[in-house]
Amino acid sequence: MRVTASCVCGSDLWPYGSMSPVDGPARMGHEFIGIVEETGSDVRTLAKGDLVVAPFAFSDGTCDFCREGLHTSCVHGTFWDMEPDEGGQAEAVRVPLADGTLVKLPVAADSALMPSLLTLSDVFGTGYHAAVAGGVTERTRVTVIGDGAVGLLAVLSAKMLGAEQIVLMGRHRTRTDLGREFGATDVVAARGEEGIERVRELTGGHGTHVVIEAVGTMPAYEQAVGVVRPGGVISRVGVPQYEEAPIGFASLFRHNIRLAGGPAPARAYAEELMPAILDGAIEPGKVFDATTDLDGVPAGYQDMADRKTLKVLIKP
Ligand SMILES: [Zn+2]
Repeated sequence: MRVTASCVCGSDLWPYGSMSPVDGPARMGHEFIGIVEETGSDVRTLAKGDLVVAPFAFSDGTCDFCREGLHTSCVHGTFWDMEPDEGGQAEAVRVPLADGTLVKLPVAADSALMPSLLTLSDVFGTGYHAAVAGGVTERTRVTVIGDGAVGLLAVLSAKMLGAEQIVLMGRHRTRTDLGREFGATDVVAARGEEGIERVRELTGGHGTHVVIEAVGTMPAYEQAVGVVRPGGVISRVGVPQYEEAPIGFASLFRHNIRLAGGPAPARAYAEELMPAILDGAIEPGKVFDATTDLDGVPAGYQDMADRKTLKVLIKP
C-alpha cells in the first residue's frame, strides 16, 4: 500500500532513546493509512484503490485468538515493530495477511477526518482497550495516569463508556486542557505521594475503581497502586519498561486489586470506534499538534522526545 498518512508514536520514543547505531537501520512506524496499490494472489477482500487503515499489529483474523478479539496474540501475525523490513513511516508498506489486517475507510484520502481515522491504528484503540480491560462502566470512577496521546484518548474512551468521574494525572497544561475537553472531570498535576494524596482527596479518600496506566515506567505503576480503590483494577497500556514490580500483600493482595491490560487489539475495535468519528461525534485526531513530511520525521521524533509536541502526523 502507498502510505498517505502516518505518525510517530509515544512508544517509538523508547527505541529512539535506546537503539544503538550498531544494530543497523530498521524501518520505523506502526500507525498508517494508505491506498492499496497491488494485492497478492491470496487476497480476497481488498482491491487496488481501496483506502485502508492498518492496526499496529498484523493478524490473520481467523485463528482462535483473532476470533476472540485478541488480534495482538494472532498465531500468524505480530507487531510491525518486530518486522525490521517494514514500517509505516515510509512511502509504501508490504502488508502481510492483508485481508485480516487492513480495515477499509469509507472516505477519500484527503478527508478532513484523516487525523482521527489514523488514531484507529493505535492510540485510540489502545486508550479504548485500557478502559475496556479495566471494566469502565457508568458506575466507575477512573484515574488516567499520563497525558500523552494514549492517556488522553483513554479519557475520551472512559467518557464514551459513561464513567462517573475521570481524574487525569498529567503536568502539561495544553495536554490536560485537551483531556478536559475529552471528558476529564479533574486534573492532578502533582506526582508521587503528593499526587496520590490529591487523587484520594478527590475520591472520598478511597481512590478510583479503575486506574489506567498509560506511561509504562515504575513511578507510574507505583502511582497506580497508590490511587486504586480496594477491589479495583489497574489497567496498563503503557509499554512496561520494567520486568519486576510490587504485586505482594501491601501493594495488590491486601485489597483485592487486579492487574489488567496489555497490547491493545486495535483491529478488534476499529469497526466499533469508526462510526463516531465518521459522524463527527468525537474527534480523537485532536491529539495531533504537528505535521511533517518524511524528511521532517527525525526532527518530529526529537520534538516529541523533548515534549515540544504531543504527536506528529506524517504526510509522506
Ligand atoms: Zn489470528
